[in-house]
Amino acid sequence: MNTQTFNALMNQQVPRLTLRQREQLKKRLDELDEEQKGLALIELSSATEPRCCPHCQGSELYRHGQVSGLQRYRCQTCRRTFNALTGTALARLPKKGKWFGFSEALAASLSLRRAAAGLQIHRNTALRWRHRFLRGLKAERPAALQGITEADETYFLESRKGCRKLQRPARRRGAKARSVGLSNELVCVLVARNRSGQTLDWVMGRGQMTKVALAGALQSVLPKDALLVSDGNPTYRGFAQDAHLVHEAINLSKGMCVNGAVHVQNVNAYHGRLKQWLRRFHGVATGYLDNYLGWFRALDSHHADSGQAVLSMALGRFSYLTVT
Ligand SMILES: [Zn+2]
Repeated sequence: MNTQTFNALMNQQVPRLTLRQREQLKKRLDELDEEQKGLALIELSSATEPRCCPHCQGSELYRHGQVSGLQRYRCQTCRRTFNALTGTALARLPKKGKWFGFSEALAASLSLRRAAAGLQIHRNTALRWRHRFLRGLKAERPAALQGITEADETYFLESRKGCRKLQRPARRRGAKARSVGLSNELVCVLVARNRSGQTLDWVMGRGQMTKVALAGALQSVLPKDALLVSDGNPTYRGFAQDAHLVHEAINLSKGMCVNGAVHVQNVNAYHGRLKQWLRRFHGVATGYLDNYLGWFRALDSHHADSGQAVLSMALGRFSYLTVT
């Protein structure tokens, strides 16, 4: 807008606004500020990275105009264009201006209803966004767990929340599984946590955890000199023997809780915090459970404390280096 038009707007148009219109204008300006903040953040995170073409990894790039507020680049090698979002979980997601606010809502663990109302977006949009953002958050995983690592499984009632084709009568949320013990209605989640607080989790599927499934999860993340601590479940002993890992088991049924450094109190406390946090969502669809596990992992480790941190993670840019 040129100066003359702007001055006319400020001196002639703005004073004629009603009180209500002024309120609306203020709100709109705040929204635009938020949008700007979001876009700046997207550009900022990408500017610090070595740039190469996400299509062909070519390094000869040049600026090629702006598209929806973001710098566009063209690759000399493959001639294709891209921006800071290409190849991220948020690519082609509309309303970029509201991403920063949405990231703040995720950092605050807001419910869908509150997040949607605060940003004036539809609940279904908020749900779709939540899972796109969480894709980035759950991807932040330590590559290995060094030192003493506690592992324990916990169970969640299977939920087909949001699924239209139920194969059994609908269950009221918060209901208990029909049979006592480990029925097929329970989904097993394995959590492994070392003494520096690095945590990994896996959705193991329905029913009892098998040795093969346990090996599939733990084998590649436990170095040879790790000490695995678990409860008395023989699946852990069997896995540790096969993998030639040092293993200590706590026999909880015999009243044993702590034997020096050998205990599973860290992982059990983590289970407790996770379940407490999940309660606010009134049941989570099993198909999305890993997204929520990733969200909680990011929050619990304080890597997702701010809107900025969440947005960076959603874009696949981790603010700290994973210790391996
Ligand atoms: Zn290219």
